[in-house]
Amino acid sequence: MTQRGVNGVRDAYDVVVIGAGLGGMTCANRLARAGRSVLLLEQHTQLGGLATWFRRKGHLFDVALHGFPVGMIKTVRKYWSKEVADRITQLRGIRFDNPQFRLTTDYTREDFTRLLVEDFSVPAATVQAFFDHTRSMNFYDDDGRTTRELFEEFFPGRTDVVRLLMEPITYANGSTLDDPAISYGIVFSNFMSKGVYTFHGGTDEFIGLLEKELLASGVDVRTKARAERILTEPDGRVVGVAVNGVTVGARSVVSNGNLKSTVLDLLDADVLPADFRTQAEAVRINTSSCQVYIGLKEGETIDYMGDLVFTSTAPTFDTDAMLAKEVTSRTYSVYYPENRQSVGRTAIVASSNARYEDWTGMSEELYKADKARLAEATLDDLSRYLPRIREMYDHLEVATPRTFERYTLHRGGSSFGTKFEGLPVSQNLPQAAPGLFHTGSVAIIMSGWLGAANYGVIVANEVDKYLGRGQET
Ligand SMILES: Cc1cc2nc3c(=O)[nH]c(=O)nc-3n(C[C@H](O)[C@H](O)[C@H](O)COP(=O)(O)OP(=O)(O)OC[C@H]3O[C@@H](n4cnc5c(N)ncnc54)[C@H](O)[C@@H]3O)c2cc1C
Repeated sequence: MTQRGVNGVRDAYDVVVIGAGLGGMTCANRLARAGRSVLLLEQHTQLGGLATWFRRKGHLFDVALHGFPVGMIKTVRKYWSKEVADRITQLRGIRFDNPQFRLTTDYTREDFTRLLVEDFSVPAATVQAFFDHTRSMNFYDDDGRTTRELFEEFFPGRTDVVRLLMEPITYANGSTLDDPAISYGIVFSNFMSKGVYTFHGGTDEFIGLLEKELLASGVDVRTKARAERILTEPDGRVVGVAVNGVTVGARSVVSNGNLKSTVLDLLDADVLPADFRTQAEAVRINTSSCQVYIGLKEGETIDYMGDLVFTSTAPTFDTDAMLAKEVTSRTYSVYYPENRQSVGRTAIVASSNARYEDWTGMSEELYKADKARLAEATLDDLSRYLPRIREMYDHLEVATPRTFERYTLHRGGSSFGTKFEGLPVSQNLPQAAPGLFHTGSVAIIMSGWLGAANYGVIVANEVDKYLGRGQET
């Protein structure tokens, strides 16, 4: 059973995993199945990290279950179970509504090809070349171009095409036209094969099933257990963690917490080579999000309006406008009762990208007033699609970058880890502090449900190699 706190923990484990986000959970499960003794520490009261949910008076809200690529089915089947993978289902309708176009798609390569050729009049050969190019992009052949340059090559001057191709990805991982094209290409190709997927039954049931698997694999799972320090020998080698005032020995430690917090806060300042610390300090945190959760009254139903509705009133795609506090672009995720039989109610979550700085450094009074303004503006906007929305709901709540920071300890409430330069810092950490690894959202490509889970697997393999055979604790 998952226990609260650290009472009864063993003196030492092969691996201590700090943080039970999708990266940390997947890493812990894989290592335990490989025969390693694993302690999983989560500071919050529930597992999942950003893959989370909350209940309010008969409502249940998903926080980060808007959609993920088809690759999640394979990852979950291989590293968790077939039972969990079998509940992943495709979203039916992704809608776009902005001043440049209105359309509905299933977000598959076939349908996007049709749209680009027939509705946007792009030559079929250009569409095919773009898809082939993005699919072939990989780390090793990175030519250093930005996403803006990539679009300029294939669709010069076509702001409408750029919007169609970029806007969902900006929502999906906070990336901009100035980020490396490779980070766009990899994420776009992941989505743009067989559409967008969700977990039937919601995040609570998904994480509940993963928790059962973790326990069955023998992971010692602890909530309300906050790692305060990562302990090292004078040569930098990792030997354990301090958690809730208790010291636990470990032959290796995996941090699933924020990359910068791991390197700059959890380790003593003199442990890492100075140039490595400097490199970590220079890593930029990705942006954050605001969400407005709207729960409809019992008995209130709506006609199908799409699963994801990307809306914007901005004239063209503009990441600054997407991040601005005066919101012009929102994604509505609609959760119909059919997918949520345990709740039987409709919920709508309006997400917008946001900057941490816009929501901090103000009085509590102003903060509350700004949240109320965001709620009102969202209801106004949503009434374009659901004119009776103000009569239909009986619960509304707003989350801001501060909320995400509070529940996950992510610096700046970052929804998607760090910018691209975080990747070498995350990957090279074991060279700087032997036995210490990092997994979870970094560098855009390792973020999102699929990216974080896959990175958990990659890091588990590295840890297993580091530990070697025949010396389990
Ligand atoms: C609003 C929003 C919407 C999103 N929508 C989608 C979506 O539709 N599709 C998609 O694929 N992705 C989405 N994402 C992103 C996705 O949820 C994340 O990228 C992914 O879940 C991150 O996993 P992670 O492994 O990096 O860990 P995280 O989820 O970041 O979890 C890290 C965990 O570590 C714990 N922790 C940190 N420090 C400590 C410590 N010192 N001691 C103990 N525990 C600690 C935290 O409490 C947390 O539980 C969304 C994110 C947000 C915020």
